[in-house]
Amino acid sequence: MRLRNIPGSRETIAASKYCITPEPAEGVEVEIRSHKMGDKKSNEGGRMILGDWNVKGHWADVFGNDHPIRIEIGMGKGAFLMERAIREPDINYIGIEKYSSVLLRAIQKQEEADLPNLRFIRMDAEYITDVFAPGEVDRIYLNFSDPWPKAKTAKRRLTSRQFLARYDKILHPDGIVEFKTDNIDLFDFSLEEVEPAGWKILAMTRDLHKDADMNADNIMTEYETKFSALGQKICKYVISR
Ligand code: SAM
Repeated sequence: MRLRNIPGSRETIAASKYCITPEPAEGVEVEIRSHKMGDKKSNEGGRMILGDWNVKGHWADVFGNDHPIRIEIGMGKGAFLMERAIREPDINYIGIEKYSSVLLRAIQKQEEADLPNLRFIRMDAEYITDVFAPGEVDRIYLNFSDPWPKAKTAKRRLTSRQFLARYDKILHPDGIVEFKTDNIDLFDFSLEEVEPAGWKILAMTRDLHKDADMNADNIMTEYETKFSALGQKICKYVISR
């Protein structure tokens, strides 16, 4: 999802009480690396502070309770997560999105809705283990993740074994990953990554909307609404370790 740069979006996000801007914890040695977030045209490149961020292991303090934490990585404008947060007030939801101009839309909606169990982080998910402690996350949602079609960029796919290894570090032992896509090549790749990464498939379908069981409490994402209206079938898997 690419939106044109919206002037002031970074400042609005930094000022929002719903968006956590991770800072290094006091006394922690901070590593500073330079890396690209997104493509060369992106205004999101540049430097980012890495290390043991102050939110890592402290999400119960952020929410003021110890309810389970579920995250969506690559949440786009956040419709899916907002609906989940409304339906399940006893679950804490965190949306992760790397582009400010996309995240801004979600924040604007949350400013109106003021849901106590919904927060956002603007970051590249590559650094996810810097913001969650081992076992802190109960469930990970990946919806219509970018396909990165070239073989040499496969490790950037959010369902690659490299990302599964990161999820392994933050997910509760009983936790699950749920992945939806309309992209058959990406789905096939994702299925092939499961076993070598040490995970197992609990459920899968290549036509979610016709699968009564898996579709039972389905919440459509923005991309899902768009692609299913075009007649595309939606694939889904649920995996655990
Ligand atoms: N999940 C939404 C949906 O289903 O409507 C949005 C899907 S959109 C195709 C993918 C989103 O993931 C984009 O907004 C993109 O910026 C974000 N994204 C891709 N890679 C990411 C990463 N490594 N870290 C954080 N966000 C990422």
